[in-house]
Amino acid sequence: TPLLETDNVTYTYPNGPAPALSGVSITITAGSKTALVGANGAGKSTLLLMLNGILRPDSGEVRFSGRPLAYDNRSLRDLRRRVGFVFQNPDVQIIAPTVEADVAFGPVNLGLSPDAVRRAVGDALGYVGLRGYEKRPPHHLSGGEKKRVAIAGILAMEPAVLVFDEPTSSLDPASSEEVMELLDELASGGRTVLVSTHDVELAYRWADSVILMEHGRVLARGAPEEVFSDH
Ligand code: ADP
Ligand code: ADP
Repeated sequence: TPLLETDNVTYTYPNGPAPALSGVSITITAGSKTALVGANGAGKSTLLLMLNGILRPDSGEVRFSGRPLAYDNRSLRDLRRRVGFVFQNPDVQIIAPTVEADVAFGPVNLGLSPDAVRRAVGDALGYVGLRGYEKRPPHHLSGGEKKRVAIAGILAMEPAVLVFDEPTSSLDPASSEEVMELLDELASGGRTVLVSTHDVELAYRWADSVILMEHGRVLARGAPEEVFSDH
């Protein structure tokens, strides 16, 4: 079943000379591990921002669970809880003075009881391997640790889809490996995971479905073996 779809989506930034997306149609199936692959500037980030309603198509449609996105505040809040977004730079996402408070932000906003919040935060920090970090100020952590705090904050809201923009960019090899192991675990737990990357190796190794983009268009999609044998 398609969980997230874009149908012929086109978008040009207000100050952009050329369309960042031209007629992009993709389908993200429930339970899939999809890699969105393309060089810098291909349109990957722009497409991801469409999926949680941060950007709105000039034409075409985005659907979640078969329903076209609505762009009123209430619908967007609801959507963003279901489509969990891990930004490329964790600093834009980490907002609270302690790790614990940061991961609790989402569940508190959802109106969970203090007990339920504590449980959600504990589970999420355990999942990303950061138990014991509760009282630490996030901005003093390493890049890899910050990334995991951001992931925990998303996990704590139990979204239907996890979206990662360039999850390993700007991380050292050891931290990249940790984040990839985490992605493997998330995906094998039956979650729907979408990752954008310029790293073909990563996509080949990790994804069961690949969408290849170039200059704002979808060049190819399918199983990694098919997509990368032709390109
Ligand atoms: P990718 O994530 O694959 O690197 P992007 O989606 O960031 O690609 O960019 C697609 C195109 O849109 C590029 O030409 C880029 O320069 C342009 N672009 C991205 N963000 C902006 C912006 N805020 N304003 C204007 N142009 C942008
Ligand atoms: P990504 O490849 O993930 O899009 P970039 O380094 O291309 O990352 O972009 C980083 C930031 O700069 C983003 O917020 C993006 O929207 C913005 N940006 C990218 N290209 C342009 C552009 N041509 N004009 C203005 N802003 C841009």
